[in-house]
Amino acid sequence: MSDSYEDLVPEVVRRIDAGEVPTDDGWRLKPLWDKHLRSLVGQPSHRPVGIYSPSQLGGCKRKLFYTRLGLPMLDNTSPKGRMRMGVGTAVHKSLFNPMMQDMFGLDEMSVELVVSLDSMHIRGEADAVLLHVETGKPRRILDCKTINLNRFGRLKEPVIRKNGDVYPEEMKTYVWQLHAYMASANATLGTLFYICKDNSDTMEIPLVFSRPVWSQIENTIAEVEYAISVGKAPDYEPDAFFCPECNYWGHPCEPPGIFK
Ligand code: SF4
Repeated sequence: MSDSYEDLVPEVVRRIDAGEVPTDDGWRLKPLWDKHLRSLVGQPSHRPVGIYSPSQLGGCKRKLFYTRLGLPMLDNTSPKGRMRMGVGTAVHKSLFNPMMQDMFGLDEMSVELVVSLDSMHIRGEADAVLLHVETGKPRRILDCKTINLNRFGRLKEPVIRKNGDVYPEEMKTYVWQLHAYMASANATLGTLFYICKDNSDTMEIPLVFSRPVWSQIENTIAEVEYAISVGKAPDYEPDAFFCPECNYWGHPCEPPGIFK
């Protein structure tokens, strides 16, 4: 039998027509894909424990309490959530990081820079940091978010009120995360850059470090540190969307009225 390209297709057709091979062996990829994604749920998470992650700061204080105590984190990301995160990671690795590396030299920019503020037990990895060329010190932190069309449509330029409140409230987590990076890297400027996964639209929100926002972050951490010192977890902050995917959902946190 020849295996040249020209001969291969007729041979395949001949074998099917002759009934020599099954036309459906029952093999399907989808059940394997679903099973693999499900098998990851409940596995130990490899995120660092005992420190506050910038992305957690604007969220549930009880979760911050468990994280700071160093309780083991479980990966409770749903299969669909994992897919969402996978797409975001792919956009970062295949588009955002190479774009930054093409546009800037190493003396102007760092990607995935680990920044920490030990006095407040904060450590995280900033997506990209623009540097002062003369000093090599950070000047602007870039945080790139990939979100779906639904959330993208609700995005607004955040307004930071005098007391540090962020409007709209759903932008608070992003603004706090960026502030934690800015404080950790000693940078005064930041940029939130959103990419819509569904239609590739982008939105850019430049921000300057806000002292009132930082005071709220400090107060939150002080509250959690106090809870640790007295050994009493902060109240539940039940949320039907976030709790089922929380690293502590069911272990040990069981917020009333929340079901998977
Ligand atoms: S399960 Fe919900 S209430 Fe409990 S720590 Fe996580 S986010 Fe907070």
